[in-house]
Amino acid sequence: MNSSLNAARRSRELAEAGDLLMDVLVVGLGATGAGAALDAASRGLSVAAIDAHDLAFGTSRWSSKMIHGGLRYLAKGQVKVAHESAVERGLLLRHTAPHLVRAQPYLLPLTPAVSGGQAATVMTGYRLGDGLRMAARTPRRLLPGPARISAGRALSLAAPLSPNGLRGALLSWDGRLVDDARLVVALARTAASRGARILTRCRALELAGDGARVRDELTGSTFAIRARTVVNATGVWAAQLDPDIRMRPSRGTHLVLRPETLPGLRAGLHVPIPGESNRFALVLPQSDGRVYVGLTDEPVEGPVPDVPQAPEEDVAFLLDVLNSVLGVPLGRQDVAGTYAGLRPLLAAGGRTADLSREHALLTSGSGVVTVVGGKLTTYRRMAEDAVDRVVALGRLGAGGSRTARLPLIGAGAVQEAGAVPDRLRARYGSEAGAVRALMAEDPALAEPLPTGITRAELVWAVRHEGALDVDDLLDRRTRIGLVPEDRAAALPAARAALAY
Ligand SMILES: Cc1cc2nc3c(=O)[nH]c(=O)nc-3n(C[C@H](O)[C@H](O)[C@H](O)COP(=O)(O)OP(=O)(O)OC[C@H]3O[C@@H](n4cnc5c(N)ncnc54)[C@H](O)[C@@H]3O)c2cc1C
Repeated sequence: MNSSLNAARRSRELAEAGDLLMDVLVVGLGATGAGAALDAASRGLSVAAIDAHDLAFGTSRWSSKMIHGGLRYLAKGQVKVAHESAVERGLLLRHTAPHLVRAQPYLLPLTPAVSGGQAATVMTGYRLGDGLRMAARTPRRLLPGPARISAGRALSLAAPLSPNGLRGALLSWDGRLVDDARLVVALARTAASRGARILTRCRALELAGDGARVRDELTGSTFAIRARTVVNATGVWAAQLDPDIRMRPSRGTHLVLRPETLPGLRAGLHVPIPGESNRFALVLPQSDGRVYVGLTDEPVEGPVPDVPQAPEEDVAFLLDVLNSVLGVPLGRQDVAGTYAGLRPLLAAGGRTADLSREHALLTSGSGVVTVVGGKLTTYRRMAEDAVDRVVALGRLGAGGSRTARLPLIGAGAVQEAGAVPDRLRARYGSEAGAVRALMAEDPALAEPLPTGITRAELVWAVRHEGALDVDDLLDRRTRIGLVPEDRAAALPAARAALAY
């Protein structure tokens, strides 16, 4: 079946949705829900998957975009979770999304603030992380091992570092997504290619084990979707649909810097947080040249907002930590944008939760299966577990998960490789040639917008990636919107793409 998502397909499938009895209804189209839709559809089950807003509207677009090897879990003694994370990283790199996940080098600069003992402890951790890579059978050619490097080499990889007192750096490697929202779009489209009905702008008002009352947010009309089983994958909003669930969200803030702000930064940085022995801020260079700096961890009380805001105290904190390793300190005026996301953490002591891994499955009295917590990295495993649970609950008679070896849209060989710019290849994989063809048809579509995105990519997003309005285009199909000035500059092009 066709993988293209667009307004016409949405209308068609929405019109049919009320008349059908689906095997699985998935609520929420972040990485977890889109992953669950794909897992279920690829087992041959009939699937409807809805989101109140857009694909990747929630936490899944506010991540650090790292595909973790599980080192942080190892540090907490959670060996099983660490291994699972490393395995999932390997699957993404090798089989499912090699076009969207890259190996990224990171440096921990050995400044006077890092003692010899601390450096040795961190290096031991990196070696254990490399052991996890080996245990997960991810070849070293995809993720090189750690090394201690000289100050000269560190400065050649990260020119903005201060050379004063720099003894060298610890070099390590981990996975990085070209864009977290693009992973979700690829998951949703791959699910659609297996027959899943992907319906954005459809809010679940009430859930039960046999379906949901749904409101089409574009028209205001309400209708029912009937299903044999229901997965609640609404992340930090999960408790709004099941009052027995209690969430304890935690805010993580990132700064967004323009490419010219830290010239010569070719590696990411782990920056020790002053006064803490084992916490680091992250400096994360992106494929589009921008650099993100994160990451805070602050408990948040009260109602969960649609779009969390980054408070100024988080911005000041991150700037302070970053400046502790830079040759030329940055000021508030150098911060071109900010974003914040809420970690979907489950409050302990609620209902019986399967907390043996970092994510949890909870089954409500009416049979709704909520899958929550975890990480972007482990979305596939979360999806598999959730679908296993509903298959058993609904006696759906489907086999086991098939997603471990199922390439996502774009994962195949790149056609016309020679003619296609690397930037397009990195974002579209095997579809890059088709995006390029749009520019050949109409050279005006080759015009670049902020971050190098072309008008053709906006048109592609409308035709094939389910973008319905300018917000979808600027804030999720592309990330132009992370810098407000860039967003304003690209707004006319986004409007034009919708009318093209
Ligand atoms: C700051 C930060 C950095 C992170 N960095 C990383 C990282 O580098 N690597 C990593 O692996 N993980 C990272 N994580 C964790 C990861 O981002 C999340 O665990 C993951 O994205 C959660 O995805 P999800 O699909 O469960 O939830 P979400 O992405 O939040 O999706 C939930 C969806 O449900 C929809 N929804 C809500 N209510 C309704 C309703 N009533 N009806 C229909 N739809 C509804 C929302 O619109 C939303 O799209 C980070 C998290 C944060 C906060």
